Amino acid sequence: MANLIYRLGGEQLSVALNRRLGLPSRRTLIRNGTFININATIGAIQQSDFITNIRNAILSASTTPAFSGHTVCIDEIALQEKADFDSKSQRVVGICHQHADAVNLTIRDAESAIRIAESLSGEECHLGKEATVIAITTWGNDSIHPVLAAASCKSETPAQIAAIIKDAIRSWSDSGAKHKLGPIWSVATDGDATRRRGFHDEFLKHKINELAEISQLSIPFGDVRLLPGLNCFVGDECVTLDFDPKHIFKRKFFYFTFIMHCL
Ligand SMILES: [Zn+2]
Repeated sequence: MANLIYRLGGEQLSVALNRRLGLPSRRTLIRNGTFININATIGAIQQSDFITNIRNAILSASTTPAFSGHTVCIDEIALQEKADFDSKSQRVVGICHQHADAVNLTIRDAESAIRIAESLSGEECHLGKEATVIAITTWGNDSIHPVLAAASCKSETPAQIAAIIKDAIRSWSDSGAKHKLGPIWSVATDGDATRRRGFHDEFLKHKINELAEISQLSIPFGDVRLLPGLNCFVGDECVTLDFDPKHIFKRKFFYFTFIMHCL
């Protein structure tokens, strides 16, 4: 709340509400705040984007998650549709990752900037209207670490979004995080129809005959697998699919209401 007040109202409002309501001062926020810096993706999503952010934001952090299972989460946040210039890479940020390969985002002179503007007006590429955000959360605690932020025009196919998540899981292994912090157990998403289709194809494709094949847990699988309604379908390496329960309940409630309305 104090951070939001500072961002929206500036230093003076922050000071006023610190004195009047006892909200944390700016100095307290800086001293005690935890900031996670990740590199935003410029252009198409690469596996190196994941590996760099996993190493910088998780493996090199002062407090790393405990050894456990982890979940890869994906969602979007709204973006202001605008392009900007990243002086570090000399490239334009804010272009959708789906079509960024259609244009050279490096600014060398006026002509290169004009070429990008022409590609935008010709709809060869687009300004990102949302940012695709992928994060890792750990079973057993509330920590969450973003590992990808990429501008999106929301035009990816189910197969493409499933491939991006597989890249995230592969990067978790290739960066050394799996060995140091534990494996990825599941992938979580909300009710987005494209993701649901893509993840359904990718993470519900193997039926495990015996849940004993999931080796990390000491549960009497012989009894568990007999539970009626238990989903025994998984993806590669036994990664399971977790749809957000809120959206499952919403959909079931909608169908229930629809059926009752038709009766
Ligand atoms: Zn696009």
